[in-house]
Amino acid sequence: MCKSLREPEHLVFFESRCSIGKLNPDQYFRGYSFLTLKWHSEELYEISDRDRKSFLEDMSNVARALSVVFKPDKMNYELLGNGMPHLHWHLVPRYQTDSFWGRPIWSGSRARKRLTREDYEKTVTLIKNVLRK
Ligand SMILES: [Zn+2]
Repeated sequence: MCKSLREPEHLVFFESRCSIGKLNPDQYFRGYSFLTLKWHSEELYEISDRDRKSFLEDMSNVARALSVVFKPDKMNYELLGNGMPHLHWHLVPRYQTDSFWGRPIWSGSRARKRLTREDYEKTVTLIKNVLRK
């Protein structure tokens, strides 16, 4: 994950001192995004207070932007790192119409949903425009 922070480039919509925001290529949950720390660390308690505050603030700002664009019924915030031990938030807009509503997104299997290149780019632009405000 350290080496692919900005990849794929067309999915990236946010960068700050601490973190990079990009869409999950799987858009089953419309707006599902990752916010990844820009250097390698595996636990929130291992980074400095200043960095942790910035990382959390970035996460909150990105979550708000996703909420404005996608109008979910609820935002989910998850920081797991079992499969990929490098600090990254899963920001998952949840909708009452999603098949896992009321449950964690990990609680069953589902089909992935890919968008066209054009739709990824449109989505990135929408999020960037909200973040700019
Ligand atoms: Zn790493």
